[in-house]
Amino acid sequence: MFKKSRIKVLIKPLGDFDILHFLDQLEAAARLYGCEPELSLDRISLQDEDYNVSRQQYDATKVLSRLLEFKKNDNKVIGITSADIFVPSLNFIFGLADIEKGVALLSTARLTSFWPKIEINSSLINERVFKEAAHELGHLFGLAHCYDPFCIMSFANSIKDVDRKLPMLCSDCLSKVWEIKYI
Ligand SMILES: [Zn+2]
Ligand SMILES: [Zn+2]
Repeated sequence: MFKKSRIKVLIKPLGDFDILHFLDQLEAAARLYGCEPELSLDRISLQDEDYNVSRQQYDATKVLSRLLEFKKNDNKVIGITSADIFVPSLNFIFGLADIEKGVALLSTARLTSFWPKIEINSSLINERVFKEAAHELGHLFGLAHCYDPFCIMSFANSIKDVDRKLPMLCSDCLSKVWEIKYI
C-alpha cells in the first residue's frame, strides 16, 4: 500500500511565465493528489515553430511535447505558460494533458480574463489557477471528465465554467483517485 505516494510532480515554467507568482496554487494542486511538488526554475523557451501566426496562439500539442524530456520514471510533469494555447478543434483551451505520457500543460492566458464584469482580484485568479492545474493533474492521475459541474474535473468551455467549479474534487472523483493510487 501507499506504493505510489512518492510520485513527484515537476512544475516547469514555459516562456516568460512568472512561476513564483502562482507557486502556492501549483503546489497545492500537486498535493491534492498526495504528491510532492518539485519546482524547476529553469524555464523552457517557447519555440517560434509552435506558434500559429494566423491564430496568434501556440499549438498546445507541440508545446506539450517540449515537456517530454523532463518526464522521468513515475513522476508527472506540468508546464505552465501565460501564452494563449489551442488545439485545432477549439478556439482556445485552458490546458492539455497527455495521460499516456504523464505530461500536462496549463495556460493562464484565459484565466486572467474575467466574467462577469466584476472587479478582478488576485484571489479569484489564484483559485482559477489552482482549479485548472488540479484539473490537468487529475487527468495524469487517471481521472476523466466529470459530469458534476462543481467538480474540478468537469470540462470548462469558458471562464464561467471555471468559476462555477468548486476548488475540490467531487466524492466520486476523489474515491477514484484513492482507488488508482492505492490499489
Ligand atoms: Zn480536461
Ligand atoms: Zn468529479
